[in-house]
Amino acid sequence: AGSVVFENVTKTYGKGAVTAIDDVSFDIHPGELVTLLGPSGCGKTTTLRMIAGLEHPTTGRIMIGGKDVTHLPATDRDVSMVFQSYALFPHMSVVENVAYGLTVSGQKKAEAHDRAREGLGLVGLADYGDRLPSELSGGQQQRVAVARALVLEPEVLLLDEPLSNLDAKLRRHVRTEIRDLQQKLGLTAVYVTHDQEEALAVSDRIIVMNRSVIAQQGTPRQLYEEPASAFIADFIGDANLVTGEVFALNGEMADVDIGGERVTLRQRGHGLGSVEVAVRPDAVRLSDGAEGAQMSLKGNVTHATYLGSAMHYTVQCEVGELFVIDGRIDAPIRAGSEVGIGFAARGLALVSGQ
Ligand code: ADP
Ligand code: MG
Repeated sequence: AGSVVFENVTKTYGKGAVTAIDDVSFDIHPGELVTLLGPSGCGKTTTLRMIAGLEHPTTGRIMIGGKDVTHLPATDRDVSMVFQSYALFPHMSVVENVAYGLTVSGQKKAEAHDRAREGLGLVGLADYGDRLPSELSGGQQQRVAVARALVLEPEVLLLDEPLSNLDAKLRRHVRTEIRDLQQKLGLTAVYVTHDQEEALAVSDRIIVMNRSVIAQQGTPRQLYEEPASAFIADFIGDANLVTGEVFALNGEMADVDIGGERVTLRQRGHGLGSVEVAVRPDAVRLSDGAEGAQMSLKGNVTHATYLGSAMHYTVQCEVGELFVIDGRIDAPIRAGSEVGIGFAARGLALVSGQ
């Protein structure tokens, strides 16, 4: 498995009219699954196509497995790509589809078919080789597309929104399979999605992109627990954005007042004064009755919704509107109640605006 390095890569289209990627640098280690995550149009596919050699950077350098491939055509790169539309040949059997790339690159048909059947075994479709793609479910067809990429034994496997044609339940199942396979084979993989849950589920690391640049990169946990900006906090999981006041700094930590409630949070270059705080919905603790009356931040519950595994509340308070998820479903708080509001520091982060 090879590494993938981008050094200050910029890609413009239409003689500079559109900047798809703006001075992007990252380093993907051998055997790692890294996800490019971001809203539509942020430059994910362009980045992937540049790794594949289907597009070339306007400026900057791309290295695969320590080798400069910036100017190498796609056919000379040891990568293979799984597309959103699985793009199987409808008139060829499943095994012929998987063997296709091998025969094109000169392998004898019998050998190619043997390898293809092994590849189908890896994705749990050993018995389906003789069918036509139309005789498989969507999830099975996508697994065939994965097998077709795997049999080429690429140095880097690229996947561009591979699950977006599947329904929600199947997506969860197939993403787990892709992740298992990637780990079992020790593949370097670059996975593109706009779905944050999918990114959290499959990735060693996530590179979050926004408007042609990297907004933040890190492990799923780092991004969720230490979002650098309001954009990341809102994009990775749910977040309420409230205003707080830093009233003391001690080393790495900042004491923050949120409507009279005090929490100590990791600071990141914030000084004293007003700050934005991202608050996870499950980090808000609502108390009604006597306990709530003693708390300094008060609010009014405007909506209370039972969702089986949790209650969802909307609360109006001095620092704004809060969306709250509360796992305590046995004694739900009624809409219209006055409540006291507390925060669990673990689900809070200081963020920069924007
Ligand atoms: P994503 O995959 O994140 O949705 P893309 O990489 O496809 O984003 O696109 C990034 C930007 O580059 C968008 O503004 C898109 O319109 C533009 N773009 C992509 N491909 C081309 C192209 N071949 N010609 C002109 N503009 C393009
Ligand atoms: Mg795309």
